[in-house]
Amino acid sequence: MKVILKFACGICHVQYDDIDRAQECEAEGLRPLSPVGMIFGRPQGRGHMYHDITFCVAKSWHDKHLNCSSLWACRDRMFNKTKEVGDTLGSEMCGPGPYGQQPSADEVPDPRHPTFKRMIKWLNENRPNIPITVWDGEKAVPLSKFRRAK
Ligand SMILES: [Zn+2]
Repeated sequence: MKVILKFACGICHVQYDDIDRAQECEAEGLRPLSPVGMIFGRPQGRGHMYHDITFCVAKSWHDKHLNCSSLWACRDRMFNKTKEVGDTLGSEMCGPGPYGQQPSADEVPDPRHPTFKRMIKWLNENRPNIPITVWDGEKAVPLSKFRRAK
């Protein structure tokens, strides 16, 4: 009989022949979760695919080492050829897809953009128990603090 010894990361369960590699994998740990209610996007970034969209984290969970999120979106354009304004608030969600991790440094939303205003209005009316935060390029900050800084 042949005995095969493998080492598995306790988080993602990937198996390694080498204990050091398994320990390195496990040491990556869990990325911080994006808080539910965090708004981000780059509606001012003309030319970018997401230039007219503001997102909000609707659900947040860990998948292996990754931070995954599902998002509500407010878009100033058609969505699914059915709605003139593509807001998916309370219904369809985007992601986790490319937004399986924290937003990038330039995905700071514009508080004067119509998509941002619609998102805030909807959250206040429909999800009053979710604390609204805004991505400032590095972290989630409370909405009032974000507005003062802008
Ligand atoms: Zn791992």
